[in-house]
Amino acid sequence: MKLTDIGAVKALMGENAFKKQYGQNFLISESVPRRIASLGLPPKARGKRRGCLEIGPGIGTLTRALAEEADRVVAVEIDESLLPILAVTLADYPHVTVIQGDAMKLDLAALVKEHFADCDSVALCANLPYYITSPLLMKILTSGAPLSSVTVMVQKEVAQRLTASAGQAAYGAITAAVAYYGKVSRLFEVPAGCFMPKPKVDSAVVKIELYPAPPVDADRELLFRVIKGAFAQRRKTLANSLTTAFPHIPRSTLAEAIVSCGWDANIRGEALSLADFAALANALANATAKAGL
Ligand code: SAM
Repeated sequence: MKLTDIGAVKALMGENAFKKQYGQNFLISESVPRRIASLGLPPKARGKRRGCLEIGPGIGTLTRALAEEADRVVAVEIDESLLPILAVTLADYPHVTVIQGDAMKLDLAALVKEHFADCDSVALCANLPYYITSPLLMKILTSGAPLSSVTVMVQKEVAQRLTASAGQAAYGAITAAVAYYGKVSRLFEVPAGCFMPKPKVDSAVVKIELYPAPPVDADRELLFRVIKGAFAQRRKTLANSLTTAFPHIPRSTLAEAIVSCGWDANIRGEALSLADFAALANALANATAKAGL
């Protein structure tokens, strides 16, 4: 059964509406699922078993392509009404397991440990539901699941944010946060016409190759608080923005920490790279320790 044919998809969905609240835009392209599967999984190597975790299989279009590549696939789908459809569309793939659940609430590290014990690597691949792209991406990255990479289809604007450099308009807290976990690259664009129903915007596939250890040396919690605080009020200078995030630290101490990093006191948060934010977090830790704050 072809899952990329509009008639077949409609017939499969039957009475099931495409649920907007779950961001259901299904792929109806032949090549896009294959490209995601071949670029999202590590190269085949003799004797190495490759696992793949998918979030939101929908009716199984991408899942099938992943199953053609991977030795084991686990797909987490929130919408119960899709389970009987997936049982049919994935019937020929006994190495695929579908789990009904909300990926935002599941313990992904435990799930990977339980289901991929016989795999040498596990990559995550997904056409992410657009209504929760950023929180779901952060949930995946902070889960502690031993993933080699995270390859996701997101709205084009989100892809621009994820791959922006410091100083660019699209650069934001999510850019610096994701850069803490891995090296991000934009793989290819996907026009809106490749989905049913057709979304209003185009999409792009990005790959995050996860670092075995963080690329910067700073207290993680403080670093993320600094990043969040720096972008909370984009129009303000970094020092002013941080006064809201760190109300217990005098503005003069915040300004001193900024200047001690070698920057102008009026610098804005969007000018700083992840390494700069780490330097600032360390300077703030020193300044507050010195002041006994
Ligand atoms: N993978 C399919 C494809 O490419 O055709 C469907 C992708 S569709 C953009 C997003 C899928 O994620 C839907 O099947 C939706 O029901 C599911 N989904 C939405 N929120 C979810 C959540 N919190 N946990 C798991 N699945 C979710």
